[in-house]
Formats: sequence, structure tokens, C-alpha cells
Amino acid sequence: MNSLFTYTDASTDTEARRVSVVVPVLLDASYDYLVPDDLDVEPGSFVLVPFGSQQRIGVVWDRLDEGASKVDVAKLKPIIATLDVPLLPTISLRFVEWVARYTLTPRGMVLRLTMGAPQAFEPEKPRFGVRLAGPEPARMTDGRRRVLEVASDELIRAKGALAAEAAVGIGVVDGLVKAGTLVQVEIAARKPLRPQPDFAQPDFQGDQVAAVHALQAAVDAANYNVTLLDGVTGSGKTEVYFEAVARALEAGRQVLILLPEIALTGQFVARFEERFGVPPVEWHSGVAAAERGRNWRAVGEGEARVVVGARSSLFLPFRDLGLIVVDEEHDSSFKQEDRVIYQCRDMAIVRASLGEAAVVLASATPSIESHVNARSGRYRHARLTERYSEAELPTIEAIDLKVNAPERGSWLSPILVEALKETHAAGQQSLLFLNRRGYAPLTLCRSCGHRLNCPQCSAWLVEHRFRERLTCHHCGFFIPVPEHCPKCGDRQSLVACGPGVERIAEEVKERFPELRTALMSSDLITGVRGMRELLAKISGGEVDLIIGTQIVAKGHHFPNLATVGVVDGDLGLGMADPRAAERTFQVLHQVTGRAGRAHVKGRGFVQTHLPEHPAMESIVTGDRDAFLDYEIATRQAALMPPFGRLAALVISAKSQPAAEVFARTVARSSPRARAVEVLGPAEAPLAVVRGRYRYRILVKATRDIDLQAFIRAWLAGLPKTKGDLRLVVDIDPYSFL
Ligand code: ADP
Ligand code: ZN
Repeated sequence: MNSLFTYTDASTDTEARRVSVVVPVLLDASYDYLVPDDLDVEPGSFVLVPFGSQQRIGVVWDRLDEGASKVDVAKLKPIIATLDVPLLPTISLRFVEWVARYTLTPRGMVLRLTMGAPQAFEPEKPRFGVRLAGPEPARMTDGRRRVLEVASDELIRAKGALAAEAAVGIGVVDGLVKAGTLVQVEIAARKPLRPQPDFAQPDFQGDQVAAVHALQAAVDAANYNVTLLDGVTGSGKTEVYFEAVARALEAGRQVLILLPEIALTGQFVARFEERFGVPPVEWHSGVAAAERGRNWRAVGEGEARVVVGARSSLFLPFRDLGLIVVDEEHDSSFKQEDRVIYQCRDMAIVRASLGEAAVVLASATPSIESHVNARSGRYRHARLTERYSEAELPTIEAIDLKVNAPERGSWLSPILVEALKETHAAGQQSLLFLNRRGYAPLTLCRSCGHRLNCPQCSAWLVEHRFRERLTCHHCGFFIPVPEHCPKCGDRQSLVACGPGVERIAEEVKERFPELRTALMSSDLITGVRGMRELLAKISGGEVDLIIGTQIVAKGHHFPNLATVGVVDGDLGLGMADPRAAERTFQVLHQVTGRAGRAHVKGRGFVQTHLPEHPAMESIVTGDRDAFLDYEIATRQAALMPPFGRLAALVISAKSQPAAEVFARTVARSSPRARAVEVLGPAEAPLAVVRGRYRYRILVKATRDIDLQAFIRAWLAGLPKTKGDLRLVVDIDPYSFL
């Protein structure tokens, strides 16, 4: 494995004690260090090294940098210590290099993604629990009695858990420790429980059977392969890919299930537990720091068998990853847009190919990229064409707003209002979808026509009536809702234009005061926990009508939801974005697919000004292939992904002329190559963000071009960026703003 040099040779040959270390900072290079005689290091060891004036944790690499100038051994600084954590596996080293090369990001920055749990690198603090041991306390209270009842099984519990179970404050437990009735004992570090592959296997029906076999075979092959699990909403994709998970577990390999962050709700974890007997190991922003640290170690030790996580879990130090499931694979939130700019679904496929793993891409509306790969035979294709059990797909109707306009000052057309009434009368739930947070996207002065803008971005301020603020959705700037127009000073001349979800909620309250409503929007729901609570309420029938943004479109299963209304089906169409039609189709399909997933018959209504658009027609007729054929042909003709390759160069600076001049210099210095087009620079649609002026250059190439090599050569010939000038490379861009 390590042919270049030996690490552990304790001979007097000091050259043999030289190792290369990569440090998680904005640098591509590795640095050589000396291994002191009393330390053992291997490729992948986490080590503490002197770095400039600081000490940093880095990783011992298994290759020397080619062509790097070699510091004389005598001058090397020694490694300070090796850390007592699992090694970073060789596959992870290769993966870091691969992602760095592909995304044109310094290797240190990608390495940093593998170290996303600072607490994993600190010694674990011992944790204490309490157990019943001594005599009853002299003074007895109701609270104390409840604690003693719970503790009577003599199990060890954390203090907080015991207090919660007995419904007392933690002080009551502390009191009993003081009295000697409870004793403190150290809790051994908790190992994740092992999921049981055969805990509760369901019976499969119809085309589920063939899909299960296909996925089992893919895992059994024990090599790299990709299967597109393409099934209509409610067809049982999760149940089906759980069988692939079971198979990988039986083979003793680890599994990663990637979900869009927002779908990481209690529902999924509960379903996993029903199927495998224990909850999975979770990895996302809602996991507390200490638990993150424990989970990171458990993955590296191979103890964590199944990880359910968001994007960054792809960089965990898996020892033997046999299967990666990417659920909702089409979801554009898999594209990370800052620091290391990468498409998680695509990198999951790379990770699998490096480690002989199978990949399952699951979706009801797979991306055009995945469809093309399935049609060409590069991916296997498993299809589920029917909903499970009696559930039928909803019927979808387009409401042409040119014909059925809402009344003045209202946003819901009479047809939709009628449908909501009927649904409620039948004791069923409805959902109104609008992908716009806040109350109104624009505030305007009736007297002078002034529009309220963000002072640092080229964007309107969005009114959030609930928080009584006008907010910029790009930089977070906000002001209280003003009483006077800031331009002409008129009082009460400001009017809200257009709807956001809060305004729809207001209309619903006026029309249907008797309905119990829930407003779901990322700015109103804080964290995974708040989301879980709200979802439980909805499933439990405590809500009649849900009003929500994007976050309700994904993955949720509400058995009693019968009617879905899309307030504005045209949002997202008509932007200068090659994936706009695809995304609109996916969102409309997903959100209307929430209706009628169990015993109730589902109906979907889409309000639109463009009923004749191919994306809209396919939604209504349910003829997905018609849309795919149209969209694939369009992309092929324009050499858009996946038929051609794209990269964006985004140049920004605090001064508009500086940004523009540099953008022109960049464009002018591009190497000439057959089959590569350099378009721009153009002012970005979002021309100013946080006070920075932005220009974009789009690079378009045919598939056979090594786009990264082209851009690398280009950047190498540019003058160094000075001052606050910034140039960001976005390979395979998803955002064109
Ligand atoms: P999808 O992910 O395709 O939208 P789900 O996996 O969520 O579909 O399945 C929809 C519902 O049908 C869920 O409640 C699921 O538990 C149930 N279901 C699907 N297949 C089966 C099966 N074979 N046996 C029992 N329940 C099933
Ligand atoms: Zn702003």
C-alpha cells in the first residue's frame, strides 16, 4: 500500500522517519515532519504537529507530494503526538484527493470535511449516572417517591433521564444522591446498538418484489454499481431499499443513507427502528457536539453500522462502506454551495467506486442526469409504478389563473377554495404550498413608488409580519417594518405586494376561522426538534390545514392528507437556469404527491399562468415520460448537462469597477480550446450580495474535455487576486444567481 517509504522502521536511517502530513487549512500541499522514536504513526494517523506559530491536528498521508521540494531531514520538526482516534482509512485519503482535484479546492479544505466533529479528537469525558443503592431518605416527598419508584429496577440512568422519567426537577435527584439513597456510577461509553437485518421484514407486493431482488443482487455483487430506484410517491421505496441495507448488514459492511437535511425527521428514524429494531446513528446539524464526537469515533471503529445523515456524512471515516443510499437523489440541496462546492450525490458515486460499494439513488422524480445514465445502461434501473396497497396516485388539475382568477386581494382561486371546504367537510387534511417565506416579497410606497431594497444586496426586503421585520433573504439584514416611507416620508403609504406563506395563512384564517392551521417555513421552525414536534401534530390529526414552503414537499407521510393546492406553480419557471423546468416539475410532483398516500383519495390543484408549459402538462396528465423526453431532447440540443459540462467562475469585490475589471481580465486570459466556450463576464442576476459586486463567467464544454485541467491551466496564468477580490470556481453549477 505504501510503496514510497516505510514509517515504522526504527533504524538509524532518519530519512525513514520522514512523513508527509496534510493539515485542514486552505492549502493543497502536505508538509514533512519527523516521527520521534517513541511514536508510532501510520498512513491515516491523526497527529498533532507544529504549524507556523500554532499546533494543529493533521493527517499522515501515504504519498509524498510529487515534485515538492524536500526539506533536509535534519531541519524537520518532530510530530508532537499521535491522537488516540481511529485512522483515516486509505479510501478516505483517496476520496479527499479526488474531491479536491475535481472541485479545484485545496486538499486541506476537503480534509477538513472528514474532521467534522471536534469533540472526537478530545479525550472522552467520563459520564456519570445514578443507581438506587442506599436506604430510603429520612424525609420523603411525592417527587422523591416517584424517583425511587422509577429507580427501583436498579438500572443505571443519567440524572437528567431519571428526573425526566419521574417528572421531577434535577434537584430532587441531587437531593437523593446527597442523602445517600442514590449513588453515582460511571457509565461505560455507549456503543451504538446493532441493527438487526431480519427484525421486521415486510411482505412485498407487485413490482416491489422484483425491485427488492434487484437491490439485493446489487449489494451481493460486492462491487461498485449504481441502481436508480425510480418509484412513484408512496410506492414503498424506503421499504424496498431497507432490504438492500439488510443485505449489506448481513455481509458485515457499513451503510450510509443520505437524506436532504430537512427530511431527517423523527419519521424516518422511527421507520428505521421499526424495521431494524434499533435507531440508526445520526449525523446532521441537529446532533449535539458530544454525540457527534462519539458517532464519528463509532464510524471509524466500525461500530456504527448504519449512518443516516446529511451531505457531510459522506466524509465520515467509514472502515468498510458497502452501500450508500441517496434518498430524494434529485434534491438540489445535495449541492453544497459554500467552502468546498460539491454535489453530494455525485461524490457519493465516486466514494462508492473507490470502495467497491453499491449505490442506490431513490426518487419519485429522478434527476435528468440519473435518467440519462439509466437509459444508457450505465446505471441499473428498478421501477415501482404503483402506490403500495390501496393507495392511488392523486388526480391533478391545473387552475388557469387567466380564467379562474382569485378575487381582488386574495390569492386562492374559487376552485381551490371550494376544494378546501369539501376536504374539511369530509374530515380530511389539506396542504397549501408556496415556496416563498415571509408575508410579502416586496414592499412599495404608494405615494412615491419607492421599493424597499436591501442596502447591501440587489434584492428587495421581504416582509415577515410574524417577526415584524423586513428582511433580506440573501444577507440576513433586517429593519423593523417602518411606519413612514424612507424616501418621501409619507405615513401609511407602504403596501405589501405579492404573497408569501404568511399572507396565505392570513387569507386562510379569514376565510376559514374554524380550521386548525399550521404554518411551516424554515424561518419559523427552529431546528430538527421543532420540526419533529410539528410533524407529529400533523400526523396525529391536530391540524386541518398546513401552509408551507419547500420544507413540506419532501419525504413526509401524512395519512389523512387529501388535498394539495399549489398557490403559484410558475415560481421557478422562466429563470436563466438550465434546470428550471426540471426543478419545477420535481417540486410540483413531490408536493402534490403528498396527497392521498394512504386510505384517502388524493387531489392536487396547481394555480398557474402557464398551463401549456410541458412541465405543467406532464404534471396534470401524469405522463412523466413525456416531460423527460422533452427535457432530455432540449438539453441534448443545447449541450447542457449531462450532455455537456458546465463550470462557473464567480468574481466579486467590494468595488464595482474592481470586480468588473478583474472579471474582464479573467475572461480575456482564458486558454483557447476546441469545444470549450467561455461566456461572459456578465453581471450576476444577484449583482450585489453583502456589499460585494458580482460577475459571472460560464464555461461550457463537451463531455470529452478535461474541464478541470482547462480551468487549472487558466487560473495558473492569472495575476494573483489582490485586496478583497475573490474568484470562486463552481464545477457543475446548480445556482446561476
Ligand atoms: P415512498 O418512499 O416510495 O414514497 P414509502 O416507502 O414511504 O414510499 O411507503 C409508503 C407507505 O406504504 C409507508 O407507510 C410504508 O410503510 C408502506 N409500505 C410500503 N410498502 C410496504 C410493504 N411491502 N409492507 C407494508 N407497508 C408498506
Ligand atoms: Zn442583503
